[in-house]
Amino acid sequence: MDKSARIYVAGHRGLVGSAILRRLRSAGFADIVVRDRKELDLTDQAAVNRFFAEERPEYVFLAAARVGGIKANSAFPADFIRDNLLIQTNVIDAAYRFGAAKLLFLGSSCIYPRLAPQPIREEYLLSGPLEPTNEWYAVAKIAGIKTVQAFRRQYGFRGISLMPTNLYGPGDDFDPENAHVIPALIRRFHEAKMSGAREVAVWGSGAPRREFLYVDDLADACILLMRVYDGEEIVNVGSGEEVTIAELAEAVRRTVGFEGNIAFDRSKPDGTPRKLLDSSRVRSLGWRPATALAEGLRLTYEWFLAHVAAKCW
Ligand code: GDP
Repeated sequence: MDKSARIYVAGHRGLVGSAILRRLRSAGFADIVVRDRKELDLTDQAAVNRFFAEERPEYVFLAAARVGGIKANSAFPADFIRDNLLIQTNVIDAAYRFGAAKLLFLGSSCIYPRLAPQPIREEYLLSGPLEPTNEWYAVAKIAGIKTVQAFRRQYGFRGISLMPTNLYGPGDDFDPENAHVIPALIRRFHEAKMSGAREVAVWGSGAPRREFLYVDDLADACILLMRVYDGEEIVNVGSGEEVTIAELAEAVRRTVGFEGNIAFDRSKPDGTPRKLLDSSRVRSLGWRPATALAEGLRLTYEWFLAHVAAKCW
């Protein structure tokens, strides 16, 4: 992938796509193609084919997906499975058909069995039942991995798949109900601080453990793998930094500067008990995360203040 290559970032307005775009631009890639949702509906196969026929990107980062937290996944199962299957099938098929040199597909750590041994190795895929709160999304992502592998086997198409751990950072969705835990808590703690509330609710028991990765570090891994990796096997990308939800809530409370208490709402689901990836494969290729959780939370809160809070209050 040289600096003059034509690169398409699908999903460039999302958390992951916007980070990939930032990193590509700062690394000096000059010919980057993007389309927002109004210009190109990725669930529309004919439109996707027309776009690829016109633009002929050589490298495709497939970061477009319908995503959401634990509540959105259970509330909109049809949207999660349908939109993700359509988006990924259309883009992978068009990339192959219109001669792209390489495609990187972004999966998720929720593709692994709910009770997979920890840390989770790539080969545990399809070795047990999924976590039910997000199985619709997980099944679509597993189909994406298999589509990429099938196109490689049958057509020799150079598709690779990367499984990120739980991500956060600038550009995230901060919707209080539907977002993932970090943006949801940043927003809730910030609102509580502004209104002078004494207590903030955190869903579940606080006991589940999660590994969080700052999205710009993921973007580095995406660009590295696009450059140096060309295999059928999926590649995990995680920080190795694991915290309980209670510890995370405390870290967000400190970042935001809320001085009240945290109350665990046990009527809300915990989801999978633990999700720590074994990232030795990507580390052996030379990748390391650069941003510790405390620093990443600070940067994300700054972004929230400038882009979300500034518009709401
Ligand atoms: P998951 O890793 O797929 O379960 O994604 P989430 O980011 O939605 O949730 C991670 C964990 O944080 C789960 O145990 C949630 O119950 C917990 N959690 C605590 N408070 C919240 C919240 O306000 N929103 C979300 N989405 N999760 C929360």
